[in-house]
Amino acid sequence: MTTATELPAPDPSNTSYSETAHPGAVQDPITMLNPDFPFSYDHYLAHDAGLGSVPPELYGTEVAVVGAGLSGLVTAYELMKLGLRPVLYEADQIGGRLRSASFPSAPGVVADLGGMRFPVSGKAFYHYVDLLGLQTQEFPNPLSAATTSTVIELAGKKHYAETPADLPPFFREVAEAWKAAVNDGAKFAQMQDAIRTRDTARIKEIWNELLPLMDEQTFYGFIAGSESFRNAGFAHREAFGQVGFGTGGWDTDFPNSILEILRVVYTDADDQHRLITGGAQRLPEALWQHAPSDLVHWPAGTTLESLHSGVPRGAVGRISRAADGTFTVQERWGRTATYPAVVTTCQSWLLSTRIHTEEALFPAELWTAIERSHYMQSSKTFVMVDRPFWKDKNPDTGHDVLSMTLTDRLNRATYLLDHGPDKPAVILLSYTWNDDALKWLALDAEERVELMLHSLAQIYPDVDITSHIVGQPITVSWEADPNFMGAFKANLPGHYRYQQRIFTHFKQDALPESQRGIFLAGDDVSFTAGWAEGAVTTGLNAVWGVVNHLGGSSAAENPGPGDLLDAIGPIALD
Ligand SMILES: Cc1cc2nc3c(=O)[nH]c(=O)nc-3n(C[C@H](O)[C@H](O)[C@H](O)COP(=O)(O)OP(=O)(O)OC[C@H]3O[C@@H](n4cnc5c(N)ncnc54)[C@H](O)[C@@H]3O)c2cc1C
Repeated sequence: MTTATELPAPDPSNTSYSETAHPGAVQDPITMLNPDFPFSYDHYLAHDAGLGSVPPELYGTEVAVVGAGLSGLVTAYELMKLGLRPVLYEADQIGGRLRSASFPSAPGVVADLGGMRFPVSGKAFYHYVDLLGLQTQEFPNPLSAATTSTVIELAGKKHYAETPADLPPFFREVAEAWKAAVNDGAKFAQMQDAIRTRDTARIKEIWNELLPLMDEQTFYGFIAGSESFRNAGFAHREAFGQVGFGTGGWDTDFPNSILEILRVVYTDADDQHRLITGGAQRLPEALWQHAPSDLVHWPAGTTLESLHSGVPRGAVGRISRAADGTFTVQERWGRTATYPAVVTTCQSWLLSTRIHTEEALFPAELWTAIERSHYMQSSKTFVMVDRPFWKDKNPDTGHDVLSMTLTDRLNRATYLLDHGPDKPAVILLSYTWNDDALKWLALDAEERVELMLHSLAQIYPDVDITSHIVGQPITVSWEADPNFMGAFKANLPGHYRYQQRIFTHFKQDALPESQRGIFLAGDDVSFTAGWAEGAVTTGLNAVWGVVNHLGGSSAAENPGPGDLLDAIGPIALD
């Protein structure tokens, strides 16, 4: 975990840390080993035995995969490797929420409208990044090494920092209060220690004890109830909300369940972020085009693109079960096909709002869980500028003229994305969530940019940003797009039971025959919605589900997620 105000190493004087410290605890990397289901997806993917097999007579069998975002592509890619024939359906672009938009006058300059910074702890995600040979760079988060300077502006007061040490002691106190809150209230150091060493039993022991105590608490309630923040006072809580940890302010998450936040910080999902050079969409596009070397059944050189003759099928309008037990998938424009299994990877709300999904396909409790899902709104607005002029120095102060900025004004967070000296660069003028995102929803791109520049002018009165802008801005509000209806899921207090139902649905042995064979995947099915790692890992769960449904199995030496779900999976509450 890092905070925006400090970059902590484990503190040996902290007894809760040293009590459990052991050789290897510091050097072993943190992975996104989720405490609800600490299954090592990266080891599973890397294993020579592969992800299992299906009976040879099923080679070439078609399986429908709804959505060609990262989850759908991982699912389809792995099904293809096993000798099945995935049939991808996509309503919009290949890539889904990994969408990189080009500035029209400079097609090589891109803006990542959805996922843009990927924690190195997301090992299953990076399995595919490495496999596909994609280049990555450190993402310029607040106070990170890739960020020349950061400005924190709160209540009209501006603090300039090139390193955390440049900030006033107040911000260190805020960071320390947060660290104490998670250590005292959520065994942070012990959990990270167990995650580092992949001590599954210990992870489960800590988490299963905390879960029932935390499920009904909000993030804000957790902070306000902690001794450290209570002692520190409201100003510290307020500043924490504005400045947060790792990526910036998190106060728009204050109403969410504290479990959601703990999963992020335990697994360092907020730390050591990298971007994909050329744009995040290169990952799903590369999966679509890649010819795996270890294919079963298909001739060498087969890709998802070649299996689909270059284009996925269109938007799905209806999913139902035919009289013979197979699934009928109908596109919005009418084309129909039948399959023995279906994987849906679109945001789950779409299964009732945009796709006529036959109700009997899922248990009623699962529908309740889907309908109760809570999605965050999110908006981003980018402009291209002639060069990274922000590195020019103010002659009076010696400071960069413009910095990565965290503010309590409308913009909330401004990021500066450099492509080299004297090359066109990109400013993400504003990246917001929830209420802050809703403020932009009704405004068009130009109105948004005008207001954002107005806010920045209050913070940087001497800088003429406008004179550097080239071309038209690019903006997005994910909640306004009918193929998404929100940016990403975030569970509210009391939602653990819903999340547990949705996540475990891929193991279907307890379901009646009439409800088997349709699988949910996508980051909103994972315990870490909003992180691409969850899109990958739930795709792998669905692959396991399909293989087993068709009569296949995992290799004995490489058990899959469904083989271990009962042993180390999310516990049921009452
Ligand atoms: C603003 C924002 C910021 C983010 N930041 C980060 C980040 O920094 N780091 C990170 O790791 N993650 C981040 N994420 C999350 C990351 O983008 C997602 O986890 C990932 O892209 C989800 O992939 P998916 O395949 O599960 O879903 P999606 O990408 O949503 O894919 C589902 C696909 O289904 C398609 N679809 C919808 N309806 C139909 C239909 N009827 N028929 C056929 N297809 C349909 C959609 O068009 C879409 O392509 C961010 C997301 C957003 C929105």
